[in-house]
Amino acid sequence: MELLDGKKCAESLVADISRKVAGYIGSGLRKPHMTIILVGTHAPSESYVKSKIASCGRAGFEGNLIRLPETVTEQELLAKISGINNDPSTDGVIVQLPLPSHINEQNVINAIAPEKDIDGFHPTNFGRMALGQKAFRPATAYGICKLLQFYDIPIRGKHCVVIGRSNIVGKPISIMLANDFDIGNATVTLTHIETPRELLLDETRRADIVIVAVGIPGFVSEDMVKEGVVLIDVGINRLENGKLVGDVDFAAVAPKCSWITPVPGGVGRMTVAALMINTLMAYENNFNLN
Ligand code: NAD
Repeated sequence: MELLDGKKCAESLVADISRKVAGYIGSGLRKPHMTIILVGTHAPSESYVKSKIASCGRAGFEGNLIRLPETVTEQELLAKISGINNDPSTDGVIVQLPLPSHINEQNVINAIAPEKDIDGFHPTNFGRMALGQKAFRPATAYGICKLLQFYDIPIRGKHCVVIGRSNIVGKPISIMLANDFDIGNATVTLTHIETPRELLLDETRRADIVIVAVGIPGFVSEDMVKEGVVLIDVGINRLENGKLVGDVDFAAVAPKCSWITPVPGGVGRMTVAALMINTLMAYENNFNLN
């Protein structure tokens, strides 16, 4: 068993980005600029935002955080996004999810200018990605692809099973790996909460690659996978004792895997790296550098 080390891969990708950025700044351009909007003080969001801002520093980007109170109205938030959409000094914007329940998340995602949508959640980017066109790809799914590529994991023609169908992880990764992309061409099965247990087991037990994003600690047990499987654990779950774990019973399942992602230090790090790649792409689009 070997680890798919998201920290190592992310550091390598961000180092490549920072070299490119240094070249652009050397030629007289400004830094790439990411803006993050955080509503309220949701503890996991605070920690995700902190790591995104820190990564901006390492990549040579300007990263700025706009904090809005929990009580902000949807209209006020949309007005803030509109201001950023029209501000040429910002290349990419993220509205950290989840939002308070009085705000409609889809309205907020739809309000972000597609050319600044570095999370890749806007219908224009999602649609373009699904059609195989140039787009900001949803960051977690894109990060998983980059991790598989970094470790030369064969994907073409492989049988991949995705557990969980969220718009931010399960759905986009299933589309991306099935598409005729550079990192794709797998045969993909997308499973979800309505998948009968027996069918789920049939699928996972013959999968070459299993990607799990359900948010349930220990969901993937040793008897669910075959010897030599590649296992991507997207889950981030905080246990009562404060420990951070994924969706896989790591101690029991890891010995059966050829490759597995740790939690923490796996997919989470890659999500942030993919955001940096998308921000650089937004910047290069702005300055016609590609
Ligand atoms: P979600 O929480 O929106 O939905 C969970 C999904 O799991 C649903 O599609 C549901 O159908 C499926 N599911 C639930 N029970 C199931 C079962 N018994 N069998 C099969 N499918 C089942 O999904 P999400 O937003 O993708 O989050 C999933 C996990 O991934 C969470 O732990 C979240 O914190 C984590 N996450 C991590 C990152 C990262 O960067 N590492 C990014 C996003 C989400």
